[in-house]
Amino acid sequence: MNAYLHIPFCTSICNYCDFTSFAGQEGKIAQYIDALCAEIADSDLAGPLRTVYFGGGTPSLLPPAQLETLLKSLKDKAAFDSTIEISMEANPETVDLERLSAYRKLGMNRLSFGAQASQTEILKRLGRGHDWARVEKAYQDARQAGFTNINIDLMFGLAGQSFAHFKESLEKVLALSPEHLSLYALQVEEGTPLARQVEEGLLLPSDEQMADEYTFAQMFLTERGYEQYEVSNFSKRGFACHHNWNIWRGEDYWGFGVSAVGTVKGVRHGHGDDLMEYIRQAPQGRRGLLVKEALSGSVQAWERIMLRFRTKDGVSQEELEAYVRSQGGSSYKERFNRFVKEGFLSLHDGHYRATAKGYFVLNGILETLMV
Ligand code: SF4
Repeated sequence: MNAYLHIPFCTSICNYCDFTSFAGQEGKIAQYIDALCAEIADSDLAGPLRTVYFGGGTPSLLPPAQLETLLKSLKDKAAFDSTIEISMEANPETVDLERLSAYRKLGMNRLSFGAQASQTEILKRLGRGHDWARVEKAYQDARQAGFTNINIDLMFGLAGQSFAHFKESLEKVLALSPEHLSLYALQVEEGTPLARQVEEGLLLPSDEQMADEYTFAQMFLTERGYEQYEVSNFSKRGFACHHNWNIWRGEDYWGFGVSAVGTVKGVRHGHGDDLMEYIRQAPQGRRGLLVKEALSGSVQAWERIMLRFRTKDGVSQEELEAYVRSQGGSSYKERFNRFVKEGFLSLHDGHYRATAKGYFVLNGILETLMV
């Protein structure tokens, strides 16, 4: 079993952010922790827990004592597997050696730093609260605190980011030698300040530049011993993120906290994104908090295909055939074999897998399954 806990607090809101996060609400953190504990206590969570993931928002805004409280409430419900992975997202400007050492002592064993880029101008434009020196300091502190499994997030397709900027960011990250790197293309989400800026004429890098950057990163990282195990994720051997990997492979996971989702025994549960409503409701029991949906067999089959295709595992011909037949679709094989010829997919051991070039156009490939 896996658990995700959403910590929806940030010191300020980045201009592209579409996550459920609130700035200037630090005064509500203590109430939120109580509400989360109440939700966990009232849940059917059962062990052994293989992964716990603190995502956000900015989980590293929480002092160690509050994280300890949350971990205790999980432990009161479910045994922790002896090899449990406990990950947390951290913003570089929120941590120092003392705080990171305390996190490590609590049993946190994987950190994920949101770096995004190394150029101060680009970071400022995003609304991030750090510069590259802060990333390096946080990273060194994490090493000193005993973290041996660290991810760094980078973005491409950012306003004002040239290919040379992106390459420089990638080189700086690799000079640190993290075990894991996540690479995300900027998405312009409706309703964000960035979407307004784009409407008003802000120029973003072209699709061609983004494709070049992604391709370059794949090559650069592979040459340096990182394996691409998912569309956006690269790791040194043995350091894939267990939490995400388990979910992509279809394991159950619980979501706790405002806006968190999870899937257990074929039932998807989700929360609303109103912070105060969550704080009010959670102590009265989990039932009132959740929106539940039993997933049909065909939705589950489609999700399994979509998720597996994002990973290096790929999908077997039998599974694809069964899915397409169940949907009354025509044979996908001709189309998929053309993708193989064009170098977007590979076919080995009866499994189709996206190639490095195929990952960039994966959504388009998957859409053809619906024809
Ligand atoms: S730090 Fe992350 S969650 Fe917080 S505002 Fe920025 S993008 Fe959103």
